[in-house]
Amino acid sequence: MEYLSTRGNSERVTAAEAISRGLARDGGLYVPDVLPTVSAEELREMCSMPYRKRVERIMRPFLPEFTEEEIEALCSAAYGDNFDDAAIAPVHFTDGRTGYLELWHGPTSAFKDMALQMLPRLLVSSLKKCGEKRGVCILVATSGDTGKAALEGFADVEGTKILVFYPNGGVSDVQRLQMVTQQGANVGVCAVEGNFDDAQTGVKRIFSDAAFAAEIDKRGWFLSSANSINWGRLLPQIAYYFSAYCEFVNSGRIKMGDALDFCVPTGNFGNILAGWIAKRMGLPVGKLICASNANNVLTDFIHTGVYDKRRTFHVTDSPSMDILVSSNLERLLYFMTGDSAKVAGWMAALGSEGHYDVGEELRERIGGDFAAGYCGDAETEGEIARIWREYGYLIDTHTAVASRVLAATRAAGEQSGACCVVSTASAYKFCSAVLAALGEKTDAPGVELIGRLEAVTGVKAPEQLASLAGREVRFDGCTRPEGMPGVVGAFLG
Ligand SMILES: *Cc1c(COP(=O)(O)O)cnc(C)c1O
Repeated sequence: MEYLSTRGNSERVTAAEAISRGLARDGGLYVPDVLPTVSAEELREMCSMPYRKRVERIMRPFLPEFTEEEIEALCSAAYGDNFDDAAIAPVHFTDGRTGYLELWHGPTSAFKDMALQMLPRLLVSSLKKCGEKRGVCILVATSGDTGKAALEGFADVEGTKILVFYPNGGVSDVQRLQMVTQQGANVGVCAVEGNFDDAQTGVKRIFSDAAFAAEIDKRGWFLSSANSINWGRLLPQIAYYFSAYCEFVNSGRIKMGDALDFCVPTGNFGNILAGWIAKRMGLPVGKLICASNANNVLTDFIHTGVYDKRRTFHVTDSPSMDILVSSNLERLLYFMTGDSAKVAGWMAALGSEGHYDVGEELRERIGGDFAAGYCGDAETEGEIARIWREYGYLIDTHTAVASRVLAATRAAGEQSGACCVVSTASAYKFCSAVLAALGEKTDAPGVELIGRLEAVTGVKAPEQLASLAGREVRFDGCTRPEGMPGVVGAFLG
């Protein structure tokens, strides 16, 4: 298997090169040239495997230049006792046909851990295979969740350093504390005076500064990012769709070979795309239901074939889905058309005009695999309350968007069989909105609300969130945007 860019087929690279580079040179995203298949017999075998083994089986064909032992070691390190549930990605069933795939048992209590516990190790192995001698310094600008998940993933990984910038006053209390108390000898965190855009622009400016790159190269370092366009972040996510299917079979809710629908709270389209790839690999997936919040650009796209980002940006209770440009959609368009010139044209139009139209024929094919829906904050909170009242099960705002969209789809008679709701965060990451949904007061700092939600529900908070208040703050620096290169320079020593 080789990898090529969604915007031009000419250059083929190895898996290690695709992961080392992140973005292709023509600005496209790397995709494998073929998708391997999993037979019914292999799927049956996977049902009796622990999570780690299921990931090994799925990742192996995508990483031809990695040995079995290397892949085994990567999976053991990524999915071990860093998760607080031995099943790693358990499914919580609420009735005879509905289960919630819990992807938040990792160190930061959100689904980004499923990829970011794997990516750093995969990246270091890939760099070694490519003959890279320098150390890699990961720079991240974050609006909250990704920064913490990247810090946890890269903490104390040999040959790496990670520095995270966040907007001063622009992240929640809990998110800030999660970052500034981060352990590890190779990590750094710094606030930026300004908003998320200021932090991100500052990071992008450093990435494109050739003189800066030359200077740190002399000291044995180069810069890289950990964002979700890297193939190494998407790949580990394919495995949990297979795993969820096995759990539905093991529970007796479906028979091997039956179709299973998935409903996925979607932002950048990475999570749901991994589900579509699983389907292409032979997993009996029915419909993939793409659930959005008020930022419903994907709902419109799936219904009309027109992607149009020229619309108001809404700040919602599900902030990790507040996105107007879903970058991983580019990979779906490539896989479905195989036409990199077309994809490049659509992406150019999105950049210059803010919209593109894939046409009726492709829209129909997309509609064959995907359904879509969205809901606002009031419905999201209503759903949290309903699931708590009817099932005694606590869900976060992102999961609630998907849960609500599934309920609406069923009410419309458009979904009737088994469905897996992909649950992307612990309710304790979004205490304020969850408490409000349950009709409770939210008049206290974020860390105090953790205790309040525990008291109200009797559901135990994840240890790493419950213990936040007592942790030592390691990073209290703050810089103006123009000071960011200096912070990176000092960090690299
Ligand atoms: C990142 C994130 C999402 C969106 O996932 P995509 O892969 O970007 O579609 C949903 N929920 C939570 C909690 C997230 O952190």
